[in-house]
Amino acid sequence: MFCTNCGEKLPDNAKTCPKCGAPAEEAAPAAAPAPAAAAKPARGRFCKGCGAKLKRSETVCPYCGAKNRIPITKRFWFWAILLLLAALGLFYLFTLCRDLYLSLFG
Ligand SMILES: [Zn+2]
Ligand SMILES: [Zn+2]
Repeated sequence: MFCTNCGEKLPDNAKTCPKCGAPAEEAAPAAAPAPAAAAKPARGRFCKGCGAKLKRSETVCPYCGAKNRIPITKRFWFWAILLLLAALGLFYLFTLCRDLYLSLFG
């Protein structure tokens, strides 16, 4: 075979051209074109097992069966409980202030 860069005749088992140093493999493109899916920005949830896009509620991949835990901050009940606790805290603070106000000025 011959060097694709400079045309020098190469031994069949040569990995690189001894003259110019270019890679000697004929069918080895330097950069394989990236799959379209990999080029997309990673938005949403993807399966840990096969990389398929998952719906928000899917904890088990429908394609490969791998389990995919939903991050706790993505769960509805996490925010519902957080909101409830915040509301309770505010209410408690409000009653505390009111009691204090009444005990001082009432
Ligand atoms: Zn060469
Ligand atoms: Zn999967």
